[in-house]
Amino acid sequence: MLIRPISRLLTNLLIKQKQYFVHHSFSYRLIHIDNSIIKTYKNDQIYLELKSINDTHVTIILNGKEIKYDWIFLRDSCQCHQCIDSSSKQKLHNTTDIPLNISPQYKDLKILNNNTLEIFWNQPLLNQETTTIHRSLYSSDWLRTYSSSKNIARSRYHDHPSIYWNRNNIQQVNLHVKCDDYLYTDQGIYTALKHLNDYGLVFIDNVQGEFTVENLVERIGEIRHTFYGKSWDVKSVEQAINVAYTSQALGLHMDLLYFEAPPGLQFLHSLKNNVKGGESYYVDSFRAAENLRQNDPEAFQSLCSYPITFHYRNINRHYHFTRSTIVLDKFSLDNRIDHINYSPPFQAPFESDTSQPEFRQFIRAFQRFHNLIEDKSNQLELLLEKDQCVIFHNRRILHARREFDSTSGNRWLKGCYTDLDNFKDRLRIFREKFNDISDLEL
Ligand SMILES: [Zn+2]
Repeated sequence: MLIRPISRLLTNLLIKQKQYFVHHSFSYRLIHIDNSIIKTYKNDQIYLELKSINDTHVTIILNGKEIKYDWIFLRDSCQCHQCIDSSSKQKLHNTTDIPLNISPQYKDLKILNNNTLEIFWNQPLLNQETTTIHRSLYSSDWLRTYSSSKNIARSRYHDHPSIYWNRNNIQQVNLHVKCDDYLYTDQGIYTALKHLNDYGLVFIDNVQGEFTVENLVERIGEIRHTFYGKSWDVKSVEQAINVAYTSQALGLHMDLLYFEAPPGLQFLHSLKNNVKGGESYYVDSFRAAENLRQNDPEAFQSLCSYPITFHYRNINRHYHFTRSTIVLDKFSLDNRIDHINYSPPFQAPFESDTSQPEFRQFIRAFQRFHNLIEDKSNQLELLLEKDQCVIFHNRRILHARREFDSTSGNRWLKGCYTDLDNFKDRLRIFREKFNDISDLEL
C-alpha cells in the first residue's frame, strides 16, 4: 500500500473539499479533526495509527489502544547513529540537551509504509551547532515496547515473578542440574538460572574431578572477591574469624549484609561431608514477608522502614551498614519485594532512637517474621552431599546449618560469591536465546 505523508493526505483532502488555507496556518489539531484520513497499516499484528499531536506529545493508536509519547521522550530515545554510537551502543547526547519546546516539523510527521513513525525535528539539541534537520525513526515494535511499564518489563525479561515456596511445595520441584549440563549446555545453565529466578536456589550434582566452585561461578559471571578470599573454606577451625568456621549451629541468615552491596549469589560446594549432623536448611524469606503483607500489614510496614545496623568488627576490619529488613522494588508495578535483609549474628546494637514507640512496634513485627521463618513447615532441610554444590540467592534465601560433631568425620564446604548483576545478565541473554518472553500486550 502506498503511504503518503499525513500532511499531503490532509492537503489533498482539504483541497478536495475546496477549503482554502495558508500553508503555515496548518494546525496540529487538524490531524485530530478527521482521523478517518489517517490510514492504519498492518505489520506483525501491530496496527499503528496516528491520532493527534500537540505541543508536548503525540497520541498513537497501537492495536486500538491510545498511547501518548512525549516529544522529549521520543527525541531523547532516538536510536539513530548520530544519537547512539553504532560500535559502543552508548548514547551520544544528554537528556538535558533536549529543548523543552522540541516538537516535529509538522509537515514531515508521517508513518512510513514499513510501519515506522518518522519524525523530523523542529530544532537541534541545545548547544549543538548544526543546521541539518534531525530525523528519527520509531518502529512499531519499539513503540509497542515503550507503550506500558508491563511491556517494558517484559522486554527486559523482568516480568517473571518469584514463585514462593514452603517445605511441601519445594519438595515437588526438581531443583537438580548435572554439573556437565550446567557447564557445557545452554539448556543446563538456563535451567539453573530459571530455578534461581523462580525459587532462589538450585543444586548442581556431580561436581568432581577437575571442577571447582570457581568454575561454577564463572559460568555465570566474575567471582566477587571479599576479605574472606576469592573462595573460602567452611570447615571447623580453632580461633574462627566467623561462626561459620566452627561446628556450632548456625541460624538462618544472609551473608555480608554489612557491605553496601552484599553479593547476590552464594555457591557452596561440598567436598567432604560425613559428620554427624551439619544438615543445611533454607527458607524463602520472600514468602514470609508476603505472608506479613497479607496478614499483618502493620508489621510488614514496620519491617519495610525500621533500620537495623549490621557490622563486622574483627581482625582489623570494621564494616558497617544500616538497612531495613524488607526492601521493595519501588519502581515495580506491584510493589514487589526486591530483597530481604536478615542476619542476626551480624547485627550491631540498634542505632535508631529506641526510646520511640516505633522500636517496640518493630520488635513485635520482627518476632512475627522470625516465627514464620523458624516454622519448620517453611524450611527445606537436607544434607549437602559430597560433590554437590548449592547455589542460592543471598538476598532472598536464608540459609543455616545444624550443629555437627567435628570428631565424627570431616565436613568441608568451599564457598564463593558472584553479584546479582551477573546472574540477571545471563538470565536475560538466555531468555532471549530461548525466545522465552511472554506476549506483549496490545
Ligand atoms: Zn537521532
